[in-house]
Amino acid sequence: MSLRRLYRSIPKAKRICSYHRCQKPILRNIDQDKGGHIYHHGCLMAAQDERYKCLNCFALFDATEAALSDQFSDHIEVVCPHCGSINLRPWRPATNNILVTQASYDMIRNRHGLGSACLTIGEIKR
Ligand SMILES: [Zn+2]
Ligand SMILES: [Zn+2]
Repeated sequence: MSLRRLYRSIPKAKRICSYHRCQKPILRNIDQDKGGHIYHHGCLMAAQDERYKCLNCFALFDATEAALSDQFSDHIEVVCPHCGSINLRPWRPATNNILVTQASYDMIRNRHGLGSACLTIGEIKR
C-alpha cells in the first residue's frame, strides 16, 4: 500500500506534520501512525522513540499517542492522552535494570541451579 495517496487525499494546507517538535508542512517523505496522524517519516520514527510518563496518572505513552495542546503556553505542549495533565516526565526504559518475571526466574533456576539464578538476577518482580 502506498502512502502517496495521502498527498492527493489531504490538501497541502492541512498536510502538517503531527510531531509536536516539527509542525511543518509535509512535502515529501510522508508517513502515518496507527491512529491515522500524518508525519514526516523521520518525525514519526522520532515520535515513537520519544516516551513520556505522566506524573499525575502514571500512564506511559509515546509522542504519537500524546495529546497536544497550545492552551497552556504559546507553543505546542505534550499532554497526557489519559488525564490531560502536562505534568510529564521524559521516560526511558531502564535497560541496565533487569526486570525478570517469576516464570523466567524459574526457568533460569531449573536450568542453572538456584545459586546462578541469584547471581544472574539482581531483582525479582512478582
Ligand atoms: Zn515533521
Ligand atoms: Zn495522565
